[in-house]
Amino acid sequence: MPEGDTVFAAAARLRKALAGHRIDHCQFRIPSLATVDLTGQEVTAVRSVGKHLLIDTADVSIHSHLKMEGAWHVHRVGQRWRRPGFEARIVLRANGSEAVGFALGILELLEDPDATLAYLGPDLLGEHWDAAEAVRRLAADPDREIGEALLDQRNLAGIGNVYRSEICFLRGVASTRPVAEVNLPPMVELARKMLWANRLRTTRTTTGNTAPNARMWVYGRRGHGCRRCQTPIERVQLGSIGGERVIYFCPRCQS
Ligand SMILES: [Zn+2]
Repeated sequence: MPEGDTVFAAAARLRKALAGHRIDHCQFRIPSLATVDLTGQEVTAVRSVGKHLLIDTADVSIHSHLKMEGAWHVHRVGQRWRRPGFEARIVLRANGSEAVGFALGILELLEDPDATLAYLGPDLLGEHWDAAEAVRRLAADPDREIGEALLDQRNLAGIGNVYRSEICFLRGVASTRPVAEVNLPPMVELARKMLWANRLRTTRTTTGNTAPNARMWVYGRRGHGCRRCQTPIERVQLGSIGGERVIYFCPRCQS
């Protein structure tokens, strides 16, 4: 599932391919932007802000969000795509490279991206990461369940379902605990550490082990024994938005 680390890595690949070059082919494959053509514009920067990705030109920024299924692929022009063409939402070419955004959850043009994204909390992978501010924002709503608060991008930006489950497990905290009962600074530090360690890895791991089936403490491991106490890992689904609201946990290690 795309989280802050996925988007950070995608931005790094896009930056390498596009930044400093003029777009020589631009195709938006969504109705609202079908007539837009950024050909001739120079890509001035490519940035990630939490789970949001910005491709900046002098006049506008291309803002995208991967949501559940999205991905940016970068390859040389002419190379075969690894996802079906009907999933492509945008195709950009510059300097012999081609970037294709597949199944993007958000794709829009922003004139002032920093203003639009100003609501986001400190970016866990950002240059200006501010742990104290993240703690302050989380603590501002003491009755809220910690599992929900960690996912709220206004508190801190970059955590999705996977990291939420893993962070709560490693801190021994049930995701249903109210924020007021949680020791927030070490939890926020752990979140930063985990995302930072994974920001350029091709395979995400929170255990430090990259072998298949050994990468996660609890996420995706329902029914398997907890790596610490062997109790079967459980999964709860909150609400009805499908996979977006799933939490995995060890009923013994977390309370
Ligand atoms: Zn356990």
